[in-house]
Amino acid sequence: MQISSTLTSTPTDDARLAEILANPGFGTNFTDHMFTVEWTPADGWHAARITPYGPITLDPAAAVLHYAQEIFEGMKAYRHADDSVWMFRPEANAERMVRSCHRLALPVLEVPDFVQAVSALVEVDQRWVPGNDGAGEKSLYVRPFMFASEKFLGVRPAEHVTFMVIASPAGAYFKGGAKPVNLWLTEEYTRAGRGGMGAAKTGGNYASSLIAQQEAYAHGCDQVVFLDAQEGKYVEELGGMNMYFVYDDGSIVTPETGTILEGITRASVMELAGKMGHQVTERRFGIDEWRQGVAEGRIVEIFACGTAAVVTPVGELRTKDGVTPAPASTELTMKIRDALVDVQFGRADDTFGWMHRVV
Ligand SMILES: *Cc1c(COP(=O)(O)O)cnc(C)c1O
Repeated sequence: MQISSTLTSTPTDDARLAEILANPGFGTNFTDHMFTVEWTPADGWHAARITPYGPITLDPAAAVLHYAQEIFEGMKAYRHADDSVWMFRPEANAERMVRSCHRLALPVLEVPDFVQAVSALVEVDQRWVPGNDGAGEKSLYVRPFMFASEKFLGVRPAEHVTFMVIASPAGAYFKGGAKPVNLWLTEEYTRAGRGGMGAAKTGGNYASSLIAQQEAYAHGCDQVVFLDAQEGKYVEELGGMNMYFVYDDGSIVTPETGTILEGITRASVMELAGKMGHQVTERRFGIDEWRQGVAEGRIVEIFACGTAAVVTPVGELRTKDGVTPAPASTELTMKIRDALVDVQFGRADDTFGWMHRVV
């Protein structure tokens, strides 16, 4: 892919950038540039470019605004102690976006083009990748996304599609760091049914999760847990994180239902835990197994994982019928979390070959 580059004439000054990077929050400040490439049936992907970050012009009839033909990815760039900049498994995000493209009838952006696009933006905005003194976990969150930009109100896959990448410095996702999050079990709403879009990373899944998330807040919880749509019995995942259950014999279970979004963090945790000697099983996991397992002391830890929050211990489960208390421990959760972030920040050997150097 040939990428043209028009750099901003007004880059964020050093003092302002230092202020942002000192306390980045999540998803509010954006870097100086963005990447764009467009697709039409006649020309394929074309006009790849880096330009100054700014609002885009979209026709009011752009199909995405009406029919939500849109997908996205989420990944991070990390600054290591020697000032080099790395991304975590970008090919895995690229491959997942290809699967999302198929499900949403969007044109496929090939894996090398995706990796080139995210790398190009991170490279041009490398001074936005926060440094980390000591135990810091700041990074640059990178958001690739693709949407139907064709001006057309008929219902069919768009014939003008735009893929963009933007980036935003990120601190800790949950205020207060990695302390246990309390979960609300929604029994009214589901996020994905059989044959639906559950396995695709698409805005529609998030739109449908918001009301359940509001319900969680109303019950004093941080996040919501969804059950399978068919039987309402099996744990799926949180709005944007996958789940893990740790048993007292060291074995670990993560839900698999065919309608969850298979996280790259989830897959990485499976490999890390396996290497640490834990038996990891992907299977359907009943909500009753959760209640009973905790009550009987057999489930000793529960955690959730995803790019934004990395690995986070799960506390209480609140439902309309009562509360399942937090499991006893967070020991393995924190061990897995540390092992993962140590690879990401270059503090441990990258034995799996996960890291991709950008700068
Ligand atoms: C992105 C996402 C995850 C986590 O995936 P990662 O690749 O680990 O960031 C989990 N669930 C949903 C619904 C998601 O959209």
